[in-house]
This record gives sequence, C-alpha cells and structure tokens, in this order.
Amino acid sequence: MLLDPERAATSEALKLSADRIDEAVYGVLGRLAAWSCQPSTPNSQPSSPAVAPAITFSYSCRDTREFRETYASWLMLQAFRLQQGDGAASYQQMKAALGEPVSVVPREREGAATGSAWWLRSVAGSGGKGVEVVEASFPAVARGRMAQAHRESSHFTEFDGHVPAAGGALDPCAEGNAFSVTDLEGAAKCPYQFFLKRGLGLRPLEAAERDKDVWLDPLTRGSQLHDIYAALLRRCRDANRCPDVRMDGAWLEALAKDTLARLNREMPAATAEILERESRDLLADVELFLEGECEDSSSEPLGFEVSFGRPLGGNEEALARAEPVEINLGGGLIFRIAGRIDRIDRIGPSEFEVLDYKTGGFWRDDFKGTFNGGRRLQHALYGLAAVELLRPRYRKAKVTGAQYYFPSHKGRRERKRIPAPTPAQTAAVLGDLREVIVAGAFVHAHDEKDCKFCDYTAACGGGVHAQAEGKQGDATLKAYGRLAAHV
Ligand code: SF4
Repeated sequence: MLLDPERAATSEALKLSADRIDEAVYGVLGRLAAWSCQPSTPNSQPSSPAVAPAITFSYSCRDTREFRETYASWLMLQAFRLQQGDGAASYQQMKAALGEPVSVVPREREGAATGSAWWLRSVAGSGGKGVEVVEASFPAVARGRMAQAHRESSHFTEFDGHVPAAGGALDPCAEGNAFSVTDLEGAAKCPYQFFLKRGLGLRPLEAAERDKDVWLDPLTRGSQLHDIYAALLRRCRDANRCPDVRMDGAWLEALAKDTLARLNREMPAATAEILERESRDLLADVELFLEGECEDSSSEPLGFEVSFGRPLGGNEEALARAEPVEINLGGGLIFRIAGRIDRIDRIGPSEFEVLDYKTGGFWRDDFKGTFNGGRRLQHALYGLAAVELLRPRYRKAKVTGAQYYFPSHKGRRERKRIPAPTPAQTAAVLGDLREVIVAGAFVHAHDEKDCKFCDYTAACGGGVHAQAEGKQGDATLKAYGRLAAHV
C-alpha cells in the first residue's frame, strides 16, 4: 500500500485519496445532472420512449453511539429538490416527505420478520396502552421514564441531584473534611459536578487520544511555568536581591531549555515543527516574566508555591505545612482548606498580598466583581490562609489584597487586583455555599457555558441546564439562588 506522499512522489498519474473523494462527488453530481435532463414522463417523446433511471438514496438517520439524530448529505437534498421541482425545498420538508424511517420495526406488523419486530410494531404509536405493556415488561424503562418526568417537572428531585443524605458527609465544615479551594469554587459553579467528583468519587474518562497538533497541554505547560517562575524568584530571594535581566536572563533561559528537553524525553512532541513552535512560545513567556519582574519592584516576593493541607515534599517553602488551614468565619463556620499559594509578596512592614498566576489568556468579563457567585473564592480564602501561615513569623501579618496575574504573551501581563473582602462578606458567600452542600442540593449548572470545559459531560444529558433553570422556584434551591447573587 502506498501513502499519498509516496504516490505523489512516484507519479502524477497515480490518484490520491482526495482525488477519489472528488471523483465520487463528481460521479454523483453527474448522475443527478443526467437525471434532471430526462423528460418528465416516458410518453413525452413517443418516437424514442425514455425510461427515467431510478436512483435510490438512503442515509442513516440516527447515530446510535451518541443517541442523536443525523442528517442526509446535501447531495440527497439536491436530488429531492430536483424530484420535487422545488429548488428551495428544505431538509425539514424532505424529512417530512420521507416519512417514518425504515428500521427493524416494520411498517405493518404482518411484515415483521421476527417476534420482537412484531412486538415492537404492535406497541409503537399505540399510546398509553403500549407504554403500560412496555413498562410492565421492562421495569428499567419504567424507572427511566419516571426519572425523565421528574426532571421535566418544576420540582427539584432526587433525579436532578437532590441527595440530602450526602449533604452531611460533604459538609465542608464537618470534622475531618478538608476541601481545596478549587473544589469549593467548582461546587459553586456546578454543585452536581461537585457531587459526582467528591460525593461519588467518579473520575472523568480519559481522552482516548492526545491532540497530535499539541505537545504541551495547558495544564502541563502551566505547571512547568509555575515551577520556572518559582525557581527564579527563590534564586533572587536567597541572594537577597531583585530579579535582573543581566544576572538572571541566561540562567533562566538555560533552566527553561532544560525543562523543555526533559519534557521532550518524557513525552516527545509529535513533530520537530511542533516542538520548535511550542518551545519558542514557552521561552518567550519566560523572558516576558523576567522582564515584568525587573520592572515591578514595589513588592518583596516572599513565598512561592506554598503548600498547605497536603503531604510535604523535600523542597518545600518554610511557610508550607502539611496540615490544612482552619478558617474560622464565625457563627460555627470553620472551613479546613488545602491548597498551594502561587506566591506571597510583602507590600509593607506587616502587609502582604497573595498572587495567583494565570498562564492563559485574560478575559475581562470573566474577572468582573469579587466573588462571581462563589466561583471566585481563591483570592479571599488564600488571603485568609496566608495570614495563618505567616503569623508564626510575622505576628501582625495582614493580607490586604490579592492579584490574579497573567504574565504570559497571551495574558498581556494583565493584573486583576482584588482588595481583601471583609470577613463578613466572605462568611456570607461561604455560608450560602455550605448551605447548598449540606442540603444536598447538587443542582446542575444553569449556564451551558459552564459545561464547555467540564470533564463530566458524559454524565449529563442534553437539556440539563434548561431543566435546572426551570426549578429555580423550588425552596431547596433558595441558598443556591442567594449564592449566585454574590457578585
Ligand atoms: S456537564 Fe455541565 S451540568 Fe454536567 S457536571 Fe459538567 S458543568 Fe455540571
């Protein structure tokens, strides 16, 4: 078998795979054209009676793997238009004209080839009586129909994610529970996903194949950049100086190149071009970061990748600790959280700021407001956690704000600064979030946009957002409504 590049190199006369597709399309078009030139009736030319050629078109109208409707090729629509003499006929008109799709269920039950086909034809379209018979024979179908009816109702039910029994177990303030800030933000965004992940312990399906045009996925790239940024700032902190292009430029470039070489050994890029392109982009981002650090000397970078509530590795920061940080927001609200603060800067004698690096692009609309309905908690919770981590060394430590910093070319070095919210503001948001969880109100995300990058889409059928929205009046979802209102 010869591949296209080999065929092209051997002879121009050898057809390529694309040529075959073109030929097939032209072949069909030719036949359609010939058909359209035939006289409308065989009797219109008595001297040489023409017999209209018969062309049969068919297409599969269901994708049974994905349970969705599929559509005919535009060629078939063209044929239908010619047949109807209506150049503007639509897909819907064609579908209506075609009638019931041909399937294992025969048009008439007398024509059934098997017992099950006869049975299916007998119940199909027979209304409530048929449903009764089917449900009596297939209890799982009956349960499925009941679940669907509950989902379509205006009540928030166990079929929508109402699981009160899980509320206590997942209570973020319960003794022994420690959640990451990402988990809590995720719970505010989609309580249902939080339940799947933390309640049922489900893990998303691994993507079957890696995107061959991408070497470093955003997660890998981001974590490597975090490590490189931290290495630079530790080097400068340990030498008690600010970053400097002349002193650090070559060192940083060598570090980034070593990182890229190691990654290419561990998970080689698909092609030399991809390796070259992505390496160039990452090196440019590293260079830009150094430039930014050299320009901005208003704060003193103090702690980097400061871990808490997680087992400590060998090279941890002095501020890190294995135990979760307890955040007492009053009124019995004590949250134990785990995480890793990208960076803590000192901005005054006892004043500090927490920074979170975002290595992707900056979208202004995504960073409006303070809490974004509980989906943006990190600045507040990491600020409170940083105070706890700093106090043993800085008795009067106070975190006055947080920054989301986009240091890459994509992020245009944007900084979103958020002043530290008051404890009462943070307590109000977390109180509502906790109430959602404790009530077991694991409702689906209302906004379809939230599902775009969700790893759990396989667990949610289409239409869940509209269903979730239609249940907003249910008393169980009151706290969720309040949570969404915290801007
Ligand atoms: S797909 Fe959407 S509704 Fe389903 S778990 Fe993900 S975010 Fe929630």
